[in-house]
Amino acid sequence: MYSTVAPLRQTDAPTGVQMALRFVKGVGPQRAGQLERKGLRTVEDALFFVPLRHEDRTQLTPLRALVPGQPATCSGVIVGVSPPPPGRFRVPFTVMLRDASGYATASWFGWRYLARVLKRGQRLVLHGRVGRYKGALVIQQPDYEIVENDEDERLHTGRLVPVYSLTEGLPQRALRSLMWRLVDTFGPEVREVLPEGVRGRRGLVGLAQAVRDTHFPETDGALAAARRRLAFDEGLLLQLGLAILRSRIARERGVAMNPRGDLVARLRATLPWKLTAAQERVWEELRRDMAAPYPMHRLLQGDVGSGKTVVAALGVLTAIEAGYQAAVMAPTEILAEQHFMTFRHLLEPLGVPIALLSSSLKPRERAARRAALAAGDTACVVGTHALVQEGVEFRRLGLVVVDEQHRFGVEQRARLRSKGEHPDLLVMTATPIPRTLALTIYGDLDVSVLDELPPGRRPIVTVARAEGKRREIYKFLKEQVAAGRQIYVVYPLVEESEALDLRAATDMACHLAEEIFPDLTVGLLHGRLGFEDKDAIMRRFKAGEIHVLVATTVIEVGIDVPNASVMLVEHAERFGLSQLHQLRGRVGRGEWKSYCILLTSGRLGEEAQQRIDAMTATNDGFRIAEVDLELRGPGEFFGTRQSGLPEFRAAELLRDTSLLEEARREANGIVSRDPELADPAHRALRAVLLARWRGKLALATAG
Ligand code: ADP
Ligand code: MG
Repeated sequence: MYSTVAPLRQTDAPTGVQMALRFVKGVGPQRAGQLERKGLRTVEDALFFVPLRHEDRTQLTPLRALVPGQPATCSGVIVGVSPPPPGRFRVPFTVMLRDASGYATASWFGWRYLARVLKRGQRLVLHGRVGRYKGALVIQQPDYEIVENDEDERLHTGRLVPVYSLTEGLPQRALRSLMWRLVDTFGPEVREVLPEGVRGRRGLVGLAQAVRDTHFPETDGALAAARRRLAFDEGLLLQLGLAILRSRIARERGVAMNPRGDLVARLRATLPWKLTAAQERVWEELRRDMAAPYPMHRLLQGDVGSGKTVVAALGVLTAIEAGYQAAVMAPTEILAEQHFMTFRHLLEPLGVPIALLSSSLKPRERAARRAALAAGDTACVVGTHALVQEGVEFRRLGLVVVDEQHRFGVEQRARLRSKGEHPDLLVMTATPIPRTLALTIYGDLDVSVLDELPPGRRPIVTVARAEGKRREIYKFLKEQVAAGRQIYVVYPLVEESEALDLRAATDMACHLAEEIFPDLTVGLLHGRLGFEDKDAIMRRFKAGEIHVLVATTVIEVGIDVPNASVMLVEHAERFGLSQLHQLRGRVGRGEWKSYCILLTSGRLGEEAQQRIDAMTATNDGFRIAEVDLELRGPGEFFGTRQSGLPEFRAAELLRDTSLLEEARREANGIVSRDPELADPAHRALRAVLLARWRGKLALATAG
């Protein structure tokens, strides 16, 4: 373990808010169990359990004033209940409601137990979208609450009412009543964690007030201020942790690699083009980091096709010329193979020995390659993340290049740094995200951006087409091939049904070869082929011997055939947005006008439609990534769970970008003055930080 500082330790004694919920009066074991399922164990957990939303129940919409297509909160007495007839699953359960203004219907699908719950004469508060069904207004699938005239009626109506995410057996009203009591009793005990200066500078309300108002605000303004405060804290805690990691890395000793640059010069001489200005700039950033005696920790962002590979290759050659080894890692075997092909193409002509370490190797061969690495005979190795996990030995590892950053978390990076003499680390992501977001999430990395495509790239024309246009599309493909171009046809590969999809792709290749393009050469590329076979097919495609390449998603990243001008994606609705963008990036690499055709079948779900729309609307990978983030949410997008970062509850990455940026600046300021938060003024902050990072800070120093 290399660390010049004592690990942070929690010293503060628990206060009232640390009390377990099961000891709270009125919380029985059953309720405590339900709360625990929501991740709420202590009073503090509950106080920071941010509501999903608030309903303004001072402003209930009269039933007569409901407008189709809009969400509404309204209230009414049940005057009629119509359960679906037995066995008619497609008929909704409906109730007729009345208020002073008139009548409306509410309906639910699949909620058959409602028949037991909802009764005539009950008063409901509903929140949902208003639609039309057979001419009548219907509130569809609303959240509902049965209003009882109990003593805390005021809590559930006539104000901004919090609505929480629930779990089986935990009713909204019960949770809200509990929250009210907790906020009332323990809220004032919440201690301020922010230094006075930060709060003042950023205009943030106090923490106790923020906690109260995030649950039971008096006004919209109070709610907004509370959210802002909690979101800021989340951002700050993330950034503080990252800043601490960074400052520790900066104080570590790494390898200084500053060779003459002969290999780099020779590679440059073999390239048929000049580096773009962006590539030159990023290469300079990289070179300087590598020459410096501390470990590089850099993220290279760039849209698909922006030329990240060659920049990484310059780094690899620099490490090798300095007498070190380099490792290139990808998240999957297929991607690793593709990187291997690309890097071999660049390095072998310079006489640099490069090897692929894949799990499909025979044990003997694998052992031999590992031995060559350990002996230092192999200068560059390409493989999956297993390279760091399986204890592969290097003689002198100097540089690690990791592709597809967002599948590679903080912990893996920490493990990596424990290899050898703190090798330099370059992570490349083909899913670019706005710089501020990058800093939010990868705040422990320096960021380089390739914000320029090589010259001569023309925007790719992207269209969405339904099955009915298939004949026209084939005609278009024939014209393209007649004009000398080549075509990709891609099939989705869903893991659960890999065999089926493979069948579909295989059948399609036969169909195309025999019936549609009998005069052309059709190739088939899929993940089940051995490496040599894949390589052979790729070479033939690259040489122009194959006109139409049918492939499962194996070509998602890394294939480079400038003559290909059409990317036809079958079942485009099944692909993720960043995948689609990657696929599109396979064309438009030459001087020809290029096309991406997204073929969809059936009616699309809402999200699928949004993905397709985003693709046809823009070619900009940064914009695509934003939409992807919006659609999938940050958790899934970044895999925060996997990456080990604290999760956001109040903050929303896209909405709160500038707030998070402020938090980052404050965090950097704090850590630059007090790297381990030893100052008594930072005591409270330090305690929360440790709790939020759950040991990850200590683990991350294990390098
Ligand atoms: P990325 O990995 O960023 O998606 P690649 O590294 O695969 O992009 O590069 C895309 C294509 O652009 C490749 O064919 C590469 O040879 C080519 N290329 C890279 N840099 C330049 C440049 N400066 N000028 C012209 N073509 C370039
Ligand atoms: Mg690439």
